[in-house]
Amino acid sequence: MMDRYSRQTVFPGLGEEGQRKLSNSHVAIIGCGGLGSTIATSLVRAGIGKVRVIDRDFVEYRNLHRQILFDENDIKNELPKAIAAEWRLRKINSSVEIEGIVADVNQGSIEGVVSGVDLIMDGLDNYEGRYLINDVSLKHGIPWVYGAAIAASGMTATFIPGKTPCFRCLSLNAPESDVVGTCDTAGILGPVPFIIGSLQSTAAIKLLTGVAETEQYLTVIDIWQGTFQRLKTGYRKDCPACQGKYEYLESKAGVETTSLCGQDVVQVLSTGSSKVALDELAKRLAQTREVVYNDFMLRFMADEEREMIVFPDGRALVRNTSDESLAKALYAKYVGM
Ligand SMILES: [Zn+2]
Repeated sequence: MMDRYSRQTVFPGLGEEGQRKLSNSHVAIIGCGGLGSTIATSLVRAGIGKVRVIDRDFVEYRNLHRQILFDENDIKNELPKAIAAEWRLRKINSSVEIEGIVADVNQGSIEGVVSGVDLIMDGLDNYEGRYLINDVSLKHGIPWVYGAAIAASGMTATFIPGKTPCFRCLSLNAPESDVVGTCDTAGILGPVPFIIGSLQSTAAIKLLTGVAETEQYLTVIDIWQGTFQRLKTGYRKDCPACQGKYEYLESKAGVETTSLCGQDVVQVLSTGSSKVALDELAKRLAQTREVVYNDFMLRFMADEEREMIVFPDGRALVRNTSDESLAKALYAKYVGM
């Protein structure tokens, strides 16, 4: 097995001792888009012992220019990203224990999806989720590697509880979405998540093999301009998270519906987090309409225009609408609250 990794263990910074540490490590990758794809492929190829990939979406054509784990067959087979990623990663390195989880990461689910891991990798595309990771990281003493990518630029930093400032020290509150833009409004060049995801993976390998960094930096790149900057970070005295106030994790304002940015899709979360037996729901719906389902999802037309996709964890996506109350009403009608 060690021969498989010989080209990296010969690098003195890693060595065979470092390789052993990697093989004993457990990493959670939250979000499997451009960043998550790059991170997952790097870490699985590098021989991390266990990798858990968590994502709530399906593979779509507009993902393929940057999300290197996926291909056209995943779209034709209507695979959730977490499942497509799990299958692909197993083919890449069968000695790694890989677990794909199709789930929304929110205050109700995050502590479960990071339980038992040594490190959390951020593959998200939103601030809300990163503040949740930050809270759970501080609460449970799990380090995490932040990454963000938009247009031609990206940034990354590593957060170690008790050793470095935290994410809220750098950014106390989320900027307005029209300031930062999204992949839908500002676009994204494919190489940006390759580079940021690679920097994140390098940070993971160093951290898991015990290479101590003396200071924390925020690395900011712009691949169109060709610039690479490292900005020194610092603690902020009024940071609630560093004082043990986990405002995002403990927020009781659980979101029931979320309009997924620019996709004309509304996500509905069952606040009771009750599981749905897809085969039973399929039987019930099949009396009145056409239903497509497998182990991972169930899909049907909720009305003439709106398609609904239901997952075993009780979550649903309603396509072709941005109307959250309509989505909630359709969910109540077909799945139940
Ligand atoms: Zn802080």
